[in-house]
Amino acid sequence: MTPGVQPGPLVDGFGRLHDNLRISVTDRCNIRCFYCMPETGAPFVPHREILRYEEIEQVARVAARLGVRKLRLTGGEPLVRRDLPELVQKLAVIPGIEDLGLTTNGVLLERLARPLAEAGLKRLNVHLDTLDRARFEHITRRDELHGVLAGIDAAQAAGLPVKINSVAVKGLVEPDIVPLARFGRERGIEIRYIEFMPLDAQGLWLRDKVLKASDILAMLAEGIGPLDPLPVSDPRAPALEYRFRDGVGAVGFIASVTRPFCLNCNRIRLTADGHLRYCLFAHEEMDVKGVLRDESLDAEAREEALAERIRANVRAKWIGHEINSTQFVPPPRPMYAIGG
Ligand code: SAM
Ligand code: SF4
Repeated sequence: MTPGVQPGPLVDGFGRLHDNLRISVTDRCNIRCFYCMPETGAPFVPHREILRYEEIEQVARVAARLGVRKLRLTGGEPLVRRDLPELVQKLAVIPGIEDLGLTTNGVLLERLARPLAEAGLKRLNVHLDTLDRARFEHITRRDELHGVLAGIDAAQAAGLPVKINSVAVKGLVEPDIVPLARFGRERGIEIRYIEFMPLDAQGLWLRDKVLKASDILAMLAEGIGPLDPLPVSDPRAPALEYRFRDGVGAVGFIASVTRPFCLNCNRIRLTADGHLRYCLFAHEEMDVKGVLRDESLDAEAREEALAERIRANVRAKWIGHEINSTQFVPPPRPMYAIGG
C-alpha cells in the first residue's frame, strides 16, 4: 500500500462514484476538425508545461489508490506525442487499473497499433466521420482519410477492439450515416454517433447544427433495417446502444445534447498541462502540476497532496452541464485543449 494515501472511493456530492480517468497527453493535433480546432493559429501549451510521462503515471497511481479502474488516453491527438507506447506500458501495470483505452484520429495508427497493443493497450476508439475523401478533407482540413483507414486495418490486425467515434453535424454528415454503419457491420466495428457539442474553438456551435441521435436512428432504420435497443450492461456508460435486428452489428449514440447522461457520470479528466476537471464543460479546474513539481515535498507528501486534489475535484463536481439551459456558457477551453 502507498504510505500516506488513504484508499477509498471517489464519491461526489450527488452520490456518483468516480472510477474513470481520462488523460490528455497533448493539446496538439495533426489535423484540424472544424468542430474542435481553429484552422490556423491554435495557441498550444509550451512543452515544459505539458506533464511528463512520469508525472502522468504518478497521478494515475494515486487515482488508482482512490478507486479509479479505467484510464483512457486522449488529446489533442495522443499519437503525435513521442514514444506513447512507453506511457501505455507504465499505466498498464498500475495495480487496480483494469482497462486502458485510447481515443485517436487514427492518422498515425498504422505504425503504432502493434507497439501500443504490445505495451498493454486494451481498446481503441478511432475518430472517423465520413468515408468520403472530399468530405473528410472538408471536415478536417487535411487529406488523411487513407491513413485513418490503414490505421483501422492495423489496429484490427493487432487484435485491438475498435470502435469508431463519429461527430454528427447537421447539414453535413447525413450522407455518411448509413455508409459508416455499413462499414461497421462489415468490419465488426461499433459506430458511435456523437451529437455535436458546444466545445469548438471558434464558437460555431448552434443548437440547430446538432444532428440528433433520434434522427440518426431513423436514417439507419430506413437505410439498413430495423434496430433494437441493447440491454444496458453498464448504467454509467454514456452510449445508448442498438443492434440491427438482422443480428449483424451494433451502433451507439452519445446523445450529450438531447439525452444528457450527467446523472450517471463517473469521469474525471486530467489535462495535458496538469489540471483536473470534473466535466468537459466545467469552468473551474484544479492544478496538479504545481504539486508534482513542488520540490519541497517528499514522495509521500506529494502523493497525499495529489490525493487531496483529486478528492477535492470530485467533491466540487456539479450536477451536470447545462447545454439545454438558456444560462449555458461554453467552457473557456475548446475540446482539443481539454481532452475529449
Ligand atoms: N484526436 C483524437 C480524436 O479525434 O479522437 C482524440 C481527441 S478528440 C478531442 C476526442 C473526441 O472528441 C473525438 O473522437 C471526436 O469524436 C470528439 N469531438 C471533438 N469535437 C467535438 C464536438 N465539438 N462535439 C462532439 N464531439 C467532438
Ligand atoms: Fe484533432 Fe481530435 Fe480535435 Fe479532430 S477532434 S482536431 S483529431 S483533437
